[in-house]
Amino acid sequence: MKTILEIQKLDRQIRALEREVETCPASVDFEKYKKVLQSGRDRFNQLENQANEIIKNFNLANNHLSNYKGGSDIIKKKNTANINLDNISSLISDANALLGDLSEENRRVEDLVRKSEEIVRKSAELSQKLTEAKLRSKSIKAKIEQKKQEVAPKIVELQKKIAALEPKVQDKEKYEKYIEMKQKGIFPVYVPLVDVFCGGCSVELPLNFIEKLKTKKMLPCEHCGRIIMLDK
Ligand SMILES: [Zn+2]
Repeated sequence: MKTILEIQKLDRQIRALEREVETCPASVDFEKYKKVLQSGRDRFNQLENQANEIIKNFNLANNHLSNYKGGSDIIKKKNTANINLDNISSLISDANALLGDLSEENRRVEDLVRKSEEIVRKSAELSQKLTEAKLRSKSIKAKIEQKKQEVAPKIVELQKKIAALEPKVQDKEKYEKYIEMKQKGIFPVYVPLVDVFCGGCSVELPLNFIEKLKTKKMLPCEHCGRIIMLDK
């Protein structure tokens, strides 16, 4: 068991080195960059949807306008063919209504033009930001790589020590369990009993569990599955 615990200690050092890479400023920056890129993509999609909406409204406005064109022809016909004192006032009010509608339609089209210009401007801005972020990510990646290179020989050294210890492991079954749980991401695998708490997940252990542990010396935690040892 002593050898397994020694190996666990070395594995802990390897993990600490790996963690050093994961938490170095460049890695933190890289996580931020990934978020920027994702929100940039989302924003692009939003803009695209807005642009599609505007195109749809443009087409609607176009249809309206061609309807009005027909309307104005009717008024022209009325004006030339049937103009008389009885219908002149209704013709004038028709024409005024048409003018009002047209200027309303015109405002709507102008509004659409403004919106689409805004979208083009925002897209260009966003595109520039994303290009800058991509450029920055290259230097961030280089820094992460540098950090990896820095810890790599230390990790190799620790792995060599583990390889040298492995043949000395007497309890193969316990070591297999160790490897299996480590691969599942449960680490450390063998933990001490700390007062009445699991040395891995800190859950308070029931009294009957501790009683059982006193006779068995080693028991898996009911909460995290780590093996709690009575003797360190
Ligand atoms: Zn636990």
